[in-house]
Amino acid sequence: MTNITVAGTGYVGLVTGVCLAEVGHKVTCVDNIQEKIDILNQGISPIYEPELDELIVNNLKSQKMVFTTDYQSVYAESDVIFIGVGTPENEDGSANLNYVYTVARQIAESITRNCIVVVKSTVPIGTNEKVEAIIKEYLKNDVKVEVASNPEFLAQGTAVKDTLKASRIVIGVESLEAEQVLREIYKPFNQPILSMNRRSAEMVKYASNDFLALKISFINDIANLCEVVGANIEDVTKGMSYDERIGNKFLNPGIGYGGSCFPKDTKALHWLSEEEGYVLRTVKAAIEVNEKQKFKLIQKARKRFNTFKGVKVAVLGLTFKPGTDDLREAPSIPNIRLLLNEGAEVHAYDPVGIANFKKIYPTQVHYEKNIEDTLEDADLCFIFTEWKEIKEIDLNLFVKMMKTPFIYDGRNCFDLSKVRATDIKYHSIGRPDTFEKKVEVTATTY
Ligand code: NAD
Repeated sequence: MTNITVAGTGYVGLVTGVCLAEVGHKVTCVDNIQEKIDILNQGISPIYEPELDELIVNNLKSQKMVFTTDYQSVYAESDVIFIGVGTPENEDGSANLNYVYTVARQIAESITRNCIVVVKSTVPIGTNEKVEAIIKEYLKNDVKVEVASNPEFLAQGTAVKDTLKASRIVIGVESLEAEQVLREIYKPFNQPILSMNRRSAEMVKYASNDFLALKISFINDIANLCEVVGANIEDVTKGMSYDERIGNKFLNPGIGYGGSCFPKDTKALHWLSEEEGYVLRTVKAAIEVNEKQKFKLIQKARKRFNTFKGVKVAVLGLTFKPGTDDLREAPSIPNIRLLLNEGAEVHAYDPVGIANFKKIYPTQVHYEKNIEDTLEDADLCFIFTEWKEIKEIDLNLFVKMMKTPFIYDGRNCFDLSKVRATDIKYHSIGRPDTFEKKVEVTATTY
């Protein structure tokens, strides 16, 4: 049996490890944070991800999984080691590869048998070669190591489903032997496996993420223009989506993308292209549109509130998207920072994001246990995340609970016709404001 190890128990490493165990492999997950390993060994996931806890418990019970910080002993016995550690953004926008390189060195110093090292982290084109060079430089024993690329495409909030039913598995290899080993590991997933060279595999990941970011920024740009020219983005996207070449995914306007991937992956590719003397104009535009879009709601609110000093602000949703507790690059953060700096009294609610938000603002924000308490006596409300329970709010609650029901919805959670039936003063993205009591003709399909 192949001994599989995964380095890093974050969103990618942990989900990869658990899903590899779920399809029948024996997997050891390594992290350098003891606290994470301790709670994983109790069958508890350190991150919020639907279905994950149950799979951890099952695979621990069936002894298909081990969690440890003892990387030396584990790497020594591994046949295949997946690297799933973080590649955050450096200040200049380039990718910080220190975590990946540290693992590469730890592997080199520990392995005692021939081994395939698989880079699952999102890394700039050419990184697999550097990882291989580092391993060769620090290798302690006379063993053969091959480095392969295997970028990850899961999305937070649906990570387990995305892994078990992956749209595709991309492997970048420089030998048929490595390809064969990886194909065998992924065989039980029964999904399309595409093999190519390492540089192409590294590029597939960036090109995919940057294309999705581009799609979001494009539709946000069009939504902004809709507001100026009096069109309704909802009807516009509906009209566009019937064209199969366009499709209906990733056409939701809002206050911009966040999370641990799109912001850093657009910047990293843009940085890399500039280094190579090529200007990636489309990706640059996506980044610029997104930066501005984050403050779209505040700009709208400023038209009514000259200052936020002393204003009681309700905030619904903190995470960068629903289904995750991740706050990395969440638009809520710069917006709340701005509100607090201006002296607003911020009351916030999120179904799972509060614990992480408290790490950024331990005391300055009033954290509420439910939507009603958050809205109580508020002068205005910002919606930053489209959680299901937020989309399902009884609209009369805004009128009943708030001092003045000014809603600035950054995720277009509500039907305009339903909002119009209430006294809510509603501002969303790319759609008419509801206090303009106009007769609305909406796109209808017969
Ligand atoms: P993360 O920050 O959630 O997890 C990284 C983990 O690695 C942490 O638990 C950290 O403690 C651990 N770690 C750091 N150094 C280590 C070491 N030397 N040995 C063992 N463990 C170590 O990161 P993530 O969100 O899982 O992302 C990991 C990579 O996958 C990144 O390159 C990211 O771009 C990519 N990716 C992320 C997603 C996503 O949705 N989060 C999707 C696809 C790809």
